[in-house]
Amino acid sequence: MNALSSIEESAISVNASKVISRLQENGYQAYLVGGCIRDLLLRKTPKDFDIATDATPEEVRELFRNSRIIGKRFRIVHVRFGREIIEVTTFRGPHAEEYDENHSDAGMTLNDNVYGTFEEDVFRRDFTMNAIYFDPQGKDMIDLAGGTADIENQMIRTIGNPAGRLREDPVRMLRAIRFQAKLGFALESDLKSSIGSLGHLIQDVPAARLFEEVLKLFLSGYGTAAFESMMENGMYGWLFPDSKRSMESNATEELVRLALNSTDQRIEKRMPVTPAFIYAAVLWYPFVEEKERLEQAGEINHAAANEAANNVISKQQLFTSIPKRFSGPMREIWFLQSRLPARFGQKPDRTMDHKRFRAAYDFLLLRELAGEQTEQLGEWWTEYQEATDERKLDMKQASNNGRQRKRKRKPRKKSNLNDNDQLN
Ligand code: ATP
Ligand code: MG
Repeated sequence: MNALSSIEESAISVNASKVISRLQENGYQAYLVGGCIRDLLLRKTPKDFDIATDATPEEVRELFRNSRIIGKRFRIVHVRFGREIIEVTTFRGPHAEEYDENHSDAGMTLNDNVYGTFEEDVFRRDFTMNAIYFDPQGKDMIDLAGGTADIENQMIRTIGNPAGRLREDPVRMLRAIRFQAKLGFALESDLKSSIGSLGHLIQDVPAARLFEEVLKLFLSGYGTAAFESMMENGMYGWLFPDSKRSMESNATEELVRLALNSTDQRIEKRMPVTPAFIYAAVLWYPFVEEKERLEQAGEINHAAANEAANNVISKQQLFTSIPKRFSGPMREIWFLQSRLPARFGQKPDRTMDHKRFRAAYDFLLLRELAGEQTEQLGEWWTEYQEATDERKLDMKQASNNGRQRKRKRKPRKKSNLNDNDQLN
């Protein structure tokens, strides 16, 4: 038969195989399923190995000392082997409300009776390509939903009626987009048009879960492709309304694309990446606009910047949460943008000492690439970082001469910024 019907068994995690044989030896059914089988069929390296079984979480827990039960509504078991975690999930029935955090919480009772049969487990999965089961012991592949054919045709197809499945869990729209970006597959046409008409439902999903999905979309190495697909399928604006709106009058689209592109490249080179940088790009022009609005309303520079950042970030939090550990650095990247033009005295060296200088400098270069006029500021900083002390003095001198000395004496007002947020 075709190449797709075979699995390269040496690529299967040894630990996952161990878990499966232990379960089977104890009389349970156990299969590899989901992304790992999909990726193995595509000769890609799976991110992780998921196992489906008819053993309950407690029964699984009993077989593996190195395991723990996680999850509230629907509990799964993590079996740990050093750094590798094998996720073991009990077959679920059609009413498993595992993804239902997004539906109205009020009045929803935790349904304990959600375990299902093997067949039920197949049909509650999202896409056909994610519902192929493989038993490494018996070397048996079970594909009741037609996933192999869809993988062969590079097609993302929901199991069952797309609109119904997307309503059930709107996050599936983002999952479809993510798999499209990652695998280069097409969205089946009904699925595509349903995403087009149901995109707004994503706003019912809790902001924390959406943040997790955004991370997967933008920080898995194919963020640019995910962004293009989100734009094409009308999803971007539901997640980032201010950013989407600012595309009409600003270079937001360019800047986001550049930031994602640079992130994809860094991931490829195994360099560190952070969502703070991407969010800084997503919301840069909304921030600049808000800051200008506040300045026009009479607020002075740094107070306006601080308040603009607060306003823009807290509005975005309504859609996708942004944990403090990322919103902090994001603000620093923004605030440093207005320190970068100051190139006299000790300022450049102090700016360079800031722990977020490197990110802020990279961000400046992207703003320039997106078309912002900064009078070669990026070039200046590129040279300054490498320059000898003597050359540094010359450079400061030159930029001072060029700079108009119409220092407006700013009113001395005590700043309400903390050390990290300082502006000049
Ligand atoms: P990845 O490569 O990102 O790990 P994956 O397909 O394995 O992709 P997971 O989030 O690890 O995605 O989920 C494992 C499996 O669980 C999926 O393949 C799918 O069968 C099922 N699944 C996950 N999320 C959903 C969902 N929202 N609705 C239905 N089934 C889901
Ligand atoms: Mg997975």
